[in-house]
Amino acid sequence: QATVQTAAPAPIDGDSAAEISALVRGLRAAFASGRTKPVAWRRAQLRRLRALLVEERPALEKALKADLGKSPVEAHTTEIGFVVNEIDHTLKHLASWLRPRRVPVPMALAPARARTVREPLGTVLIISPWNYPVNLALAPLVGALAAGNAVVIKPSELSPATSALLADLVPRYLDPEAVAVVEGGVPESTALLEQHFDHIFYTGNGQVARIVMAAAVKHLTPVTLELGGKSPAIVEPGADLAATARRLAWGKFTNAGQTCVAPDYVLAVGGTADALQRELAAAITEMFGEDPKASGDYGRIVNERHFDRLVALLGSGTVVAGGRHDRGDLYIAPTVLGDVTADTPVMAEEIFGPILPVVGVPDLDAAIAFVNERDKPLALYAFTESEETKRRLTTETSSGGLAFGLPIAHLAVPDLPFGGVGESGMGAYHSTASIDTFSHTKSVLDKSLVLDTMRVAYAPITDLKEKI
Ligand code: NAD
Repeated sequence: QATVQTAAPAPIDGDSAAEISALVRGLRAAFASGRTKPVAWRRAQLRRLRALLVEERPALEKALKADLGKSPVEAHTTEIGFVVNEIDHTLKHLASWLRPRRVPVPMALAPARARTVREPLGTVLIISPWNYPVNLALAPLVGALAAGNAVVIKPSELSPATSALLADLVPRYLDPEAVAVVEGGVPESTALLEQHFDHIFYTGNGQVARIVMAAAVKHLTPVTLELGGKSPAIVEPGADLAATARRLAWGKFTNAGQTCVAPDYVLAVGGTADALQRELAAAITEMFGEDPKASGDYGRIVNERHFDRLVALLGSGTVVAGGRHDRGDLYIAPTVLGDVTADTPVMAEEIFGPILPVVGVPDLDAAIAFVNERDKPLALYAFTESEETKRRLTTETSSGGLAFGLPIAHLAVPDLPFGGVGESGMGAYHSTASIDTFSHTKSVLDKSLVLDTMRVAYAPITDLKEKI
């Protein structure tokens, strides 16, 4: 019987490895009992999660403001509303996604039927980061629940207000027998990773991804790794540079640049750099005013460590817009760096903040070579009117996603799978890709015993049988 309990369970002491172990055993028992398998349970959980997002929107917005200075509008479009859309899309299509698929049977096995069925994997772990702490914890949860799994979420300790809120709300809205939140940092993550999960879904950086993958080896647990890296934006002559600059500024300075698919740097092709830099400066002023610090639409850096790391990168080029910063307020202005060369620190690591370097390259060949010499990006962007350029970038480069004319918005197309390749990750989710990730696709063959057509295959193999 599918039930949704609203009473909060006893809080889990995140420090206790024994409690974490007991928690996971409990979830595994809940899964084994079959409670998460009925589609009715899955739908009920998704509706409860939707209710959490809608009813608790003010509290969620407050937590996101506290953790990242996110404006309510941004909190809604990129996090709360985003997950609501994912739920609505999932509820609408779930029946068709879960429907068994018939496949043809070869003549030699006829008469028989063959089909694939989706089955949940079991108990899955979702480890999420701080930059979109609602979205990146709950969007994977949508897929895990829709596929019928028991779930543990481990939110990031670096967004503590959101983490605490999720730990409070999730057990109140969702079935606490089958869905749990474990708060904490490395010790808690480590204790969780020692447990037996049937899938681990990790979003974050590549170093920790290696720890996650190594831990998964012990139980032969499959992993999805949603990572980051430097996502380039190629700008070609002939593109409308004012429109390009506005879209780049929007994609880059949303969440103060702390977005895994933010354009990390610009490759300005064939002398477009100067004009583009002027347009970028104008776009920043248009969006955030003369003093972005006073703009209600502009966020803050998550903590001092990241602030210091980012400020150190400001010396990698000439500041052509922004550059101001205030440690007490964790504020770094939307900044554009010109005269940047490939060997500077800002080009050595993922920036993950509001600094946009512009690197000049002579032509498209050089831009493609620049991209291909580096790790495969999570996203590649190009601003061009040339269909030939689009064709070349599609076939000659490799990246998690590729978008022409608009950064970051490919995530808002529900049926586009989202994931990286190479250093930017493995696996994907959203929509049916989430069902693929959190299900096993089981092959089923069904042949009646009534007519034993298989006798031709059995020994002894006679001449006549060989001819058949
Ligand atoms: P983070 O520091 O919040 O870490 C992510 C999670 O890993 C947290 O829950 C944290 O507690 C856990 N963790 C940290 N150290 C650990 C350890 N030693 N063992 C086990 N777990 C550990 O976030 P972050 O890594 O700074 O996130 C930023 C990175 O994530 C960037 O590279 C960004 O591009 C990437 N990112 C990717 C996506 C995506 O969807 N592909 C989305 C957001 C961020």
